[in-house]
Amino acid sequence: MAKTKRGRVLWSLPSRGRGTCPICNSTRIKLLYSRANAGGTIIKVCKRCSKAEQDKIDAVIP
Ligand SMILES: [Zn+2]
Repeated sequence: MAKTKRGRVLWSLPSRGRGTCPICNSTRIKLLYSRANAGGTIIKVCKRCSKAEQDKIDAVIP
């Protein structure tokens, strides 16, 4: 399987896969992980927050 979270593939993503994580507010971090919040909306989070409790994900309203 191709690596989708490192290397050149990131450069084809919007903002090259980087942004501000809505959970931990880290800026210019890689947002490569998808989590669904309480409303069923998919949000992109960083690696750390991909393992965050669902409560924290649900608290985010995009
Ligand atoms: Zn985060």
